[in-house]
This record gives sequence, structure tokens and C-alpha cells, in this order.
Amino acid sequence: MTPEQLLKQVFGFDSFRPPQRDVIDHVLAGHHALVLMPTGMGKSLCFQIPALSLAGTTLVLSPLIALMKDQVDQVVARGIKASFINSSISREERERRYKKLAEGAYQLLYVTPERFKKPEFLEALKGVRIPLLAIDEAHCISEWGHDFRPDYTRIAEFRARLGSPVTLALTATATPKVQEDIIRQTGLESAEVRVFHAGIERPNLRFSAFDVHGLDEKIRGFVALHHQMPGPSIIYFSLISTLVKFSQAVAKLGFRHVTYHGGLNDQHRKQNQEMFLRGQTDLILATPAFGLGIDKPDIRKVFHAEVPGSLEAYYQEAGRAGRDGLPSDCALFYDPDDVSIQMDFIKWAHPETSFVKAVYALIERNEARWKAEGAEFLRAEMNFYNSRDYRVETTLNLFERWGVLEGKTLIGQLGPELLDEEKSKSRLKAEQARLLEMLNYVNKSECRAQFIYTYFGIGGHGPCGVCDRCKNTSK
Ligand code: ADP
Ligand code: MG
Repeated sequence: MTPEQLLKQVFGFDSFRPPQRDVIDHVLAGHHALVLMPTGMGKSLCFQIPALSLAGTTLVLSPLIALMKDQVDQVVARGIKASFINSSISREERERRYKKLAEGAYQLLYVTPERFKKPEFLEALKGVRIPLLAIDEAHCISEWGHDFRPDYTRIAEFRARLGSPVTLALTATATPKVQEDIIRQTGLESAEVRVFHAGIERPNLRFSAFDVHGLDEKIRGFVALHHQMPGPSIIYFSLISTLVKFSQAVAKLGFRHVTYHGGLNDQHRKQNQEMFLRGQTDLILATPAFGLGIDKPDIRKVFHAEVPGSLEAYYQEAGRAGRDGLPSDCALFYDPDDVSIQMDFIKWAHPETSFVKAVYALIERNEARWKAEGAEFLRAEMNFYNSRDYRVETTLNLFERWGVLEGKTLIGQLGPELLDEEKSKSRLKAEQARLLEMLNYVNKSECRAQFIYTYFGIGGHGPCGVCDRCKNTSK
């Protein structure tokens, strides 16, 4: 079948969106590609359709365990032989899937990068033909990206193991520097990889930012804007504690809404999400975890009650508004006091080498307690009172990545990668620079959309004409 026939018969769509068709042709011709397309535009089809045409199993790497099941359920419902393997399924089920993988039963298999550390997985892969490796959320590969995942840094090695298949990296947001890094980290040369840019421009989004002080001003700002344009809205928060206070305050004012954050259990979260998606409520108060992979075209407003840590994060979240192309508002409430939240997040995501050494020493000297109590033991010993300080978790991830820990067993020494003070500092600086650009976005007087496009390396745009800067309504 041709890609058009597959699109129609398997997915039920009439036409490709740019640049889906070009990407598919390119991949089917055996070439590597990096695809930049805004969230919700249909990156998945770029590997799903080739997976149906190519003999063998297309492997999809994704860092998002939480979304894998839904993604797979959707394609299985369309009759595609697909599955996923990650830590969320039982051992028996995993073994069953390994067996099917080895039998070549899957057209499409989603895995997290840490799978490659499991001998059973590598064993099952032997003899399976992998015509295509898709790397979803590819910005996670880059340590200059806003969502760096150490596990993603071994992709070049995994690719080589798979016999260097055609590789398709996909992401919604990558600055030119991050694009370069993705290609390099995949073990490819820029000349071998064609970059497809869907264009990240979203002319129907009206950006604005408001200087505020304190929660009350944010609430007043929200109420005023909310009345101006009806329709589904998201309010994003960096901190659960602010979200909860905001929720109580707007409930008193009569705003029906649901919330979505890490303080709710999975079932409750899912239920709230469903209510919003089905239109049973028009307002959701959420942390950034909400919205990944969410498909709701008619969101009219995305508010940020706290400044995010980077324009990548901001544009990704704000960009969930107006997928249907109709005018939509993206408003950011900027309180200078909130900047420190992001500064803390950045600091905690980059533990200093002395911290890394201390955690290592603790584990080494207290193996029994570490095995019994896990990360909680380390947190207590490191004197953590702040529940948001996740340096211990970051350090443990790094230990896994660099072969220091396997589960709870120490299997190696601290290597030079973990003790490189310079490198750790330069990563920290890169994140601080991203935060600074976010603040520049808020404070500079130029057109908001233009500022964003320039940041992502897309020049040649005139003023958008609809943001607060263009309309001169900013305060
Ligand atoms: P992304 O990964 O870019 O965020 P997805 O691949 O999850 O986006 O697709 C988002 C939505 O767009 C899905 O519901 C998908 O079925 C739909 N979609 C993708 N391509 C097309 C198309 N050519 N025509 C109509 N709908 C499409
Ligand atoms: Mg996607």
C-alpha cells in the first residue's frame, strides 16, 4: 500500500500535514531525518506509516513511560501490531513481550532507553530486523536541552548495537544548538541528516505577560481575562502549593474546575484529566506534567501563574492553546519573586560534584540501610527538608547512567564523567542562560511571537500584530 492508502485505511485521515509526507518518503528511501513539528501536529505518523511498510520491527525510543500505554493502545486499536516494554509492566508480561519481539511479531515497539541495559532485551533483539529507529522527544538527548535525560546520552551506542538502522529523531522544540547536539549524540554527521521544519509559527496565539505581585494579583488577573474569552482553559503552576492555594481561592469565587498534579493519585489525576478532555469542566489547574500527549484542539487560554524555566517549556505549554487554529490567548503572570523557584529547580537538577561524592560514600558505607530504605535514607542523611529538592534522585539517575549502580547494587566507581566539575558547571550555566532568556521574553519590549521565533532560530518574521506588545496593551 502507498502511504496515502495507509493514511486513509489505517488512520482514517484524508491528507498528510506538512511535512509528514516528505519525511515518510525520505525515511522509506533509507535516509536519516530530524523532524521539528509542534506538539499535536502529528509527529507519530512519520514513523508509524513507515513501520507499516517496512519489513521488521520499528523501534520507538521514548522517555515518557506514562504516555506509552496510551500511544500503543491507540495504534493497536487501528489494527497495528504494536506493543511497549518498560518498567511499568510485570515481569511475566515483559517476558511474554520479549518472546514475541524475538519472534518478529511486532511492527512497532515502544521502549524506554534504559531497556538497553537489560541483557534479556538485547538477547530478544538479536536476529530481529530493525529497519527504523525512531527517537521521540529527541530534545531529551541534548544536555543543552531543557529536559535532559542521562539515559538518552547512550543512543549512539544503542544505534550501533542495532546495526545502525535508519534513524528518525523527532521533537517539538529544539534551538539550533540543540538540533546539532541531537544529531551528534545519535552518532550521525550533520550532512547525513536532513532536518524537516514544520514551522513552529502559531499565528492564532495571542501572547501577553503581566507584571504582578503575589497570589491575589494573579487571581484578579485571571478572573479579568477569563471573562473576556470563554472556552476551555489551563492554568499552569510550577509549585503544587501555589496551585492548591489558587484552587481554593477560585473555588470560593465560584469557578468550577479540576486540578492535576503530583499530589493526587494516578486514578484521581486521570479522572480529572478526562473530565477536562471531555468538556465536563472548562478549567484545569495543572503542573507541567499535564498536557504531554494530550489531544484537545479547542483550548482557548493557557495561563502561567508562575514563570517557567525556559522558553522551550513555555512555548510547549502555551502552544497547547488553539490547535484548531482559532484565536487563543497565552497569558503569563510574572512575579519577580517566582524566579527563585526556577533557580532552585536548576540548582537541584545539577548536583555539584561534592554532593555526588557524598551520596556515593553514604551508599558505600551503609549498604544495608540503603538497600532497605532506598532514596529516603539518603535524603534523610543529606538533611533534606525541602520536598522539592530532588538532587538525590538526580544523582541516583546519573549513577545508573554511568554504571555506578544497578538497581540498589553498587557495581562501579565514580568515573571522570561524574567528577568533571567544569562540565557540571557549564551545564548549570546553560540552564541559567535559558532562564534568563525566559525573563528577557517577559521584559523586552519587542513582539512576543517574534522573540520566540528568533529564539528557535527562525528569522524573517514581522510583528505578529496580536500580542500585548504589538497592541501596546502590556502592563
Ligand atoms: P505529536 O507527536 O506531534 O505531538 P501526534 O503524533 O500525537 O502529535 O498527533 C496528534 C494528533 O494529530 C493525533 O490525534 C493524530 O491522530 C492527529 N493527526 C496526525 N496526522 C494527521 C493528519 N495527517 N490528518 C489528521 N489528523 C492527524
Ligand atoms: Mg509525540
